[in-house]
Amino acid sequence: TPLQLWTAVDAYISEQLIPADPVLDAALAASAEAGLPQIAVSAPQGKQLHLLARLMGARRILEIGTLGGYSTIWLARALPESGRLITLEADPKHAAVAGANIARAGLSGVVDLRLGRALDTLPQVAAGSSEPFDLIFIDADKENIPHYFDWSLRLARRGTLILVDNVIRDGEVTNPASTDPRIQGVRRFNEQLFAEPRVTATTIQTVGNKGYDGFTMALVTG
Ligand code: SAM
Repeated sequence: TPLQLWTAVDAYISEQLIPADPVLDAALAASAEAGLPQIAVSAPQGKQLHLLARLMGARRILEIGTLGGYSTIWLARALPESGRLITLEADPKHAAVAGANIARAGLSGVVDLRLGRALDTLPQVAAGSSEPFDLIFIDADKENIPHYFDWSLRLARRGTLILVDNVIRDGEVTNPASTDPRIQGVRRFNEQLFAEPRVTATTIQTVGNKGYDGFTMALVTG
């Protein structure tokens, strides 16, 4: 099946380009052990996040949707020592597992994990931030993507990169009649992008061990 092929190719890419990493492996193992859903980004995607953060020289990163902290670790490792990553998670169990994973990664001093629904914690993030974020990764409940995008613009500067995961969903995003609130969230987000003069964006379709999906990258220009 296509999924088997995509999974085999992801494994091949990982073998060739992504050295075995005890800390990341342990984060995934602990997440699985605790019964967390296995919906973290793949290793190639995690490394892509890391490379994008490095390319930008990001010093301040915001992540919405921590899960077990797998993407958090990839992103935080791109930061300089003085850098900071704030990650928002609603589920206390996910946050507990993530906290342990982040500590094992030696990143507790860099990562600030905030427990609570992101729409409740984002105002605190905004109130406590003197500086804008360089990179924002939106990967929580998809129905709220439009709200997270609005918040991202408030927390951004010219040059901030906003990344949004799971915006294709097997192509279902093209179905205006979809009754899936996650799809409707992405469709409203695309309408925002269409109408928003302060960003320029593209969306890349992806296949891999997580199936057929994609991500949006939006650069804040104004
Ligand atoms: N970024 C993670 C990674 O790649 O390793 C995966 C995040 S997972 C796809 C989505 C996470 O968002 C889940 O842990 C879920 O509990 C969390 N979440 C769902 N609704 C949320 C909300 N309203 N506020 C904050 N987090 C939420």
